[in-house]
Amino acid sequence: MTTEEAARAVTESPVVILPAGAFEQHGPGMPLATDTIRAEQVCRLVAAELAGRAVIGPSLPVGVSPHHLAFAGTVTLTTTTLATVVREYVDSLHRHGWRKILVVTGHGGNNATLSTVAQDLLVTHPELQFAWTPLTPLASDVVAGMRVSEVHGHSGEAETAQMLHLAPHLVHEDRLTAGSARTADLDPLSRLARRSGHPALAVPYDRLSANGVLGDPRSATAADGRAIVGAAVASITAFVKEWLDI
Ligand SMILES: [Zn+2]
Repeated sequence: MTTEEAARAVTESPVVILPAGAFEQHGPGMPLATDTIRAEQVCRLVAAELAGRAVIGPSLPVGVSPHHLAFAGTVTLTTTTLATVVREYVDSLHRHGWRKILVVTGHGGNNATLSTVAQDLLVTHPELQFAWTPLTPLASDVVAGMRVSEVHGHSGEAETAQMLHLAPHLVHEDRLTAGSARTADLDPLSRLARRSGHPALAVPYDRLSANGVLGDPRSATAADGRAIVGAAVASITAFVKEWLDI
């Protein structure tokens, strides 16, 4: 978009969608930018559904990934830095007149920071509406119906399926390798950390999984990925359509 197009978009497209991701290990078969790629593609599909009523802003390509730093290539921001960057994106967009901003994050490690920013914006920008969402949890029904390992998650069946659908040319299918896929594969501290619910316990990924993978990405299919992405896009689109009318 040009600056003149952006000026018109403030009224024609009152929602700005910001894709957020991470630059972190995704096992032996997927790129470091996996989360950013998924977020950008989903935002593009949502914007297409909204037929000009939303614009996509600049991506947040590096997220909060200290738990992956033991693996080469991972680049992380601290939570305070990501919060500052998100706030400064929002400040700029707010200055131009946008009042509805949605962050779509492909990386769960950003969730806590986005939630913190949302609370702070209630005080600093009371006229602004700030929303954020993770991706894969929007499709938990789809994932529940898939063939997944007892332990699955990062770079596992569901995430690999999304990449096989959205960016198959970036998946090295011949290098996909199972990681920690059974509870028995986890050491006692990791088992406690992976137990669902709270208290929450943070452990680094090199402790959870020797190759950085949770689950078995070899059983991922593009068809499952299409179903996950479709559910996420439908959910976000429905939210924004309702939001636009308020
Ligand atoms: Zn990821």
